[in-house]
Amino acid sequence: MRKFLVAGNWKMNGDSAANSELIGAIMSGMPEAIKKAENVEVLVCPPFPYLAAVNELIDGSDVLLGSQNVSAHGSGAYTGETSAAMLRDVGCQYALVGHSERRTLYGETSEQVAAKFAAALEAGLTPLLCVGETLAEREAGNTETVIDGQLQAVLDKSGVEAIALAAIAYEPIWAIGTGMTATPEQAQDVHRHIRGVLEAQNEDVAAGLRILYGGSVKGDNAAGLFGMPDIDGGLIGGASLKAADFLAIVGAAATL
Ligand code: PEP
Repeated sequence: MRKFLVAGNWKMNGDSAANSELIGAIMSGMPEAIKKAENVEVLVCPPFPYLAAVNELIDGSDVLLGSQNVSAHGSGAYTGETSAAMLRDVGCQYALVGHSERRTLYGETSEQVAAKFAAALEAGLTPLLCVGETLAEREAGNTETVIDGQLQAVLDKSGVEAIALAAIAYEPIWAIGTGMTATPEQAQDVHRHIRGVLEAQNEDVAAGLRILYGGSVKGDNAAGLFGMPDIDGGLIGGASLKAADFLAIVGAAATL
């Protein structure tokens, strides 16, 4: 049985006061039913400067901490970078790698993403690998080819067994921050494809892998998406910034 993972990607939003209010509201608003739900884990990914403070705020709760990015390098002369070991040191358990905003706005290639994935794993972080196609790629019928390429770079670098220590988020770029969610069937098709690609290499890894969906998930569409057989939770952007919205999504997972 795979547990749902509901992950909030706060992106470059918030400040000390807003984060503390948000995390306080998430923790206090989490009904006992959700806290006790054994089928869902909750992760928050605040901006780098606030990781240590948020780690203190979630101390003693079941909320997990992740970063939004990680350096491919271990240490040294890499101005502005943050290593996986540093992220572990401030309490992170997860690191997002290859978010589409990193790929498109900062030109991260699939090979660089694969190097970040490997660096995260080596330091004991769970990489949450983001993959997804643009609208043009979907309309040209290239969704699977694009995703296969993004996945293959990681498989080439780290091998299929490494995927057992990671999670994947399928995030169609056309659905991120646009309010245009993939239908549960559209998302399920891609999730099934990803699991199938891995199944061909290692059935156990494929069966245990959590594949999250991301792209305009909200309280009113989460249950439909999470109810699909290969969707194991969500990576949530905009709706993770409001406790009530985020809790509604967590609640949808907890009731399935
Ligand atoms: C994201 O940034 O990963 C994301 C899914 O954003 P949103 O939920 O706002 O579409």
